[in-house]
Amino acid sequence: MPELPEVENVIRSLVKKISGNRIIDVEVITPNIIYNRLEFSDLVKDKIIITLERRGKYIIIKLNEGNLLIHLRMTGKLLYNGEINKHTHLKIDFIDGDYLIYNDVRKFGRISYLNDEELEFYLLKKVGLEPGLMEYNEFRDKLMKKNGPIKKNLLDQTLIAGIGNIYADEILFASGLHPLYETKNLLEIDLSNLYNNIRDILDKATIAGGSTIRDYVNGDGTAGEYQDAHKVYGHSGKECTCCGCILEKTKVVGRTSVYCPICQRIR
Ligand SMILES: [Zn+2]
Repeated sequence: MPELPEVENVIRSLVKKISGNRIIDVEVITPNIIYNRLEFSDLVKDKIIITLERRGKYIIIKLNEGNLLIHLRMTGKLLYNGEINKHTHLKIDFIDGDYLIYNDVRKFGRISYLNDEELEFYLLKKVGLEPGLMEYNEFRDKLMKKNGPIKKNLLDQTLIAGIGNIYADEILFASGLHPLYETKNLLEIDLSNLYNNIRDILDKATIAGGSTIRDYVNGDGTAGEYQDAHKVYGHSGKECTCCGCILEKTKVVGRTSVYCPICQRIR
């Protein structure tokens, strides 16, 4: 569930609080969420946190030696001095007495310790263009090599990183494109609308603290507000804010997709 704006807000809420701190203890409560579970505690203990970065939907905690790569998937949360409960799977203690926990109700999230080379290799393979940094031409060229529904390609993290189901629906509505519209039929005007809306909507959502649909909160427990600005996501059966007709839903690669049959007509 957390997409680029939510992940970015987790990072922003934590970076000042934990950078520079030394890790003195690592408690792995649920080994299944850790990739290199056997050596993990030993690898992470005594390291100093340098900073936090984001690539797509990944959180990278840069250590003085190596990196923690974290994917929150559906319900993962990184919480600074947060409530320890039955959903707490990892606890990282700092020398100043503060701590960071990883909570995850559904336990789909993953955490790994990677050295710099391993991290680069992994990101290169799994994470595509960064929306805030991509040039129009590289976006256009990458997308136009793809077949299939535009929404499927927006969700492909190896193409453009960070867009999930919420923002894909919002971006397509803003661009007047049906989620099942064939990618190779996109016109130049569609591509430039998409490019601008991807950047604009992710930016606005980030500034609003992300979207809290069920239980998303950032690293200090604050919820997002961008859900109030959603025009289509979760609004199936309601009136389109633009034309007043009833929003419909369909499935694209197994994901519920809400759209306006008039504003997003397949041409
Ligand atoms: Zn409409």
